[in-house]
Formats: sequence, C-alpha cells, structure tokens
Amino acid sequence: MRLSPIAEMPADIRRHNRYAVLSLLREHGALSKSDLVGLTARTSTTISSILDVLLEEGLVRLTDGEDPPVVEASRGRPSTYYRLSSTRWLAAGIQIASDTVTGVVLTLDGQVLCSERLSVPPNLPTQDVLKAAATVITSTLEQTVQNQPEQYGRANLLGIGVALEGIVDVPNGSSISMPYRTAWRDVLIKSYFEEQFGVPVVVDWRVYAATLAEACYGSARGLSDFAYLNVDTGVAVSTVIAGMLVRSSEQPSGSTGELSHAISVGGSRLCYCGNTGCLDTEITTHMLVTQLREMLTVGQWHGVGQFWQTHEPSLDNMILALQQNDALTLQLRNRFSQNLSIAVNSTILLFNANMIVVGGGALRFGGAEALDYVRRGAQRLTILHSLFSATKIVASTLEPDPATVGAATLIIQAVMDGRVAISESQIKQ
Ligand SMILES: [Zn+2]
Repeated sequence: MRLSPIAEMPADIRRHNRYAVLSLLREHGALSKSDLVGLTARTSTTISSILDVLLEEGLVRLTDGEDPPVVEASRGRPSTYYRLSSTRWLAAGIQIASDTVTGVVLTLDGQVLCSERLSVPPNLPTQDVLKAAATVITSTLEQTVQNQPEQYGRANLLGIGVALEGIVDVPNGSSISMPYRTAWRDVLIKSYFEEQFGVPVVVDWRVYAATLAEACYGSARGLSDFAYLNVDTGVAVSTVIAGMLVRSSEQPSGSTGELSHAISVGGSRLCYCGNTGCLDTEITTHMLVTQLREMLTVGQWHGVGQFWQTHEPSLDNMILALQQNDALTLQLRNRFSQNLSIAVNSTILLFNANMIVVGGGALRFGGAEALDYVRRGAQRLTILHSLFSATKIVASTLEPDPATVGAATLIIQAVMDGRVAISESQIKQ
C-alpha cells in the first residue's frame, strides 16, 4: 500500500522513491536490497543511494542478520537486511480534545513507548491548555528515557504531531475552534510547539490522524480500502481509498464524513443543529452522560439506579456500572448499540469498504457487546450484501487511543514522504 496523507503521491521523483522504500520497510519489517529493488521496480543504484541517505539520517538501520527476514529473498540469501530504526528517533504525539490532552511516544515502527492522559477542563484558558499539552510531551519523553535508558538514552525527537478535535486549519497549523472550549479561537498550534521544542510540528484533525494510524500501525495495516468511524464528542467517518487518505483538499478539516446529524432510531431530542433525533444527541460521550442523568431523574422514585447513589454520573463510572451489571446503564448500552448500528450501516452503504475500524471515547462505553450487536445488524443490512463483500467491523486496538497514536504518526508520515526534512542539527545531536 502506498499511503499518503495528502490525496496524491509526492510529485518529486526522489521523494516518491524514498517514500516507497520507507513505507515498504514499515509494512514488511526487514527487507534486503534485492527485495526493495523487486518491490519498487527501481534500479539497484537508485535503491542503494536512497538507503545511503536513510542510513545517514538514522531512519533505517542494518539488521546484521539478528532478525529473521520477513520476505524471502528472490535470489540467494543476502546477509544484510534493512529495517526502520526503532531507537534512533522518537516521535511525540499529542491529542488536544475538549476535555483532555493525551500524549504518546512512538517509534518509527509503531511501538508505543509511553503514554499519558491529562484531564483538561473545557473552561481552562487557552494558554493553560497549551502548557498542559507541552508538559505531557516533556513528561512522556522523559519517562521513555528513564524506563529504558539503554535503548533510548541517545534517541532524538523527530518532531511532534498534534491531533485536534474541532475545526483545523492544516496549512496554517492552527485550531480554528473546538467544541465546548468557548474561549479557544484561532489558536496557533504549530508555531507554539515549534518554539517550545525546536523540532518540526505537524497539525491535523484528529479523525484523519486516527485513520492514518490505523492504516500504518493498526487493524487496517496493509489494506488499500477501509473506513474509520470515530464516535466521541461527535460522530465522523474518514476513509482510505486505493491506499490514500481522502481529505477535504486545503479547506479546514472537521466537516467531511460528518455523521453527527444523521437521524437515529426513536431519538426525539432537539439537536444544536436545529433538527431532532440526530446521532449527535444519542451516541456521543457527553450525551451518554446526559441520558444517564435524565434516566436518574425520571427513575429516582422507582427504585432503579442504586449504583448511582454512590457514584457521580461520568463516562468512566458508566463503564464501571456496566461491569457491575447496573440495569439502568445496561439499558443505555442497548440504546447506544442500536444507534451505533445506524452509523456503521450508513458507512457500509456509502463506501462498501473492506473494513470499518471503530474508535473513540464512546466506544469504551459500548465495548465488545455494542460491536457484536452492530455486526449482527450489518449482516441483516441487505440481502445483496453477501453478493458483494462482507465488511469486517472491528474495534481499534491502538492504545491509548487511535487519535493520539495518529498524532505521532502524522510527523512520522511527514518525514517519510519528505514534506518535513530532518534538520542537520537534529541529525548531529
Ligand atoms: Zn443535529
């Protein structure tokens, strides 16, 4: 798969070849030079010169035979294999959302070395949110080195990727707005983190970032077509088609694949969009808690919801309540499952993708039970479905969450496809 975060391949032939080599190594693990010549259909000279540069930059290392090759060599058994360096560079990823910031340290080959989540209330001043994010980046990097000084003591920071909730101006590296954060307007994200850390910074909408992570390191690795459904404070779909992430050209992100205002089953709540019964009023994280509060109000004289006499209504407590089989919360999960089915079925009918990966905070509440319900619903979707393909529906397995891993993937991807160059000072460090 040739995945590019822009809906085109690098035009420059040198960048194109370099990206082809790096993405093949990411996909296959260890490859010999002749494997790379065969897989890219480039000359041996071209591949050698690319590998020389990549070795110099520390993006690629020689395996010296310690790893069993993943791909059998076509001729002979070369002793030298190449793979992405897993210790020379570290990528930092930070997700800034309406209630939390989450950070991760990722290697080029997709190992999560450290992660941290900080609760950051929506009413916190903008500068304090940015400071909290910078603190998480510093702390996760320090912990990574402290935990494994042998491996990462000499590693350098490749750059920082920032995944944002809300509307993002990607070319300008700014966050135009974020739900619930009313004071957060036109925040210059890229320049802030560049000044703080002195490394390249890439900014994107968190649903695109999560999709990229699923394609590079998650459940959809190696697939050329899939959809990622994010169910969090909103409901959104993003797709990879023919190996490329489909995105809204240069326009600010955050409006493509919007399913928030598709109509749910039996929902009658007024939505902020002016309609009633939108998915946004049913399966988003904030609305799950709102529904719980409503049920507790209605049910307080009827002996239901004992669990909630000693627990505050919150998403984390709702997950705990499910583990203790609280009837009221189980009922909310049934409702969640039905409405999640609508979002998934809409995605299947729109894209007929090989796979739908579902992620986001609300899925933590729905869990495996919701996904089982959704799978059964998808099988009944249409009798024509079996004639075409059976879409696999899976939950994201990326930890701490796909958008935060995606944030770090943004910067790795930008370096791999040549949009961001590693500076001389970074290499010499
Ligand atoms: Zn609506």
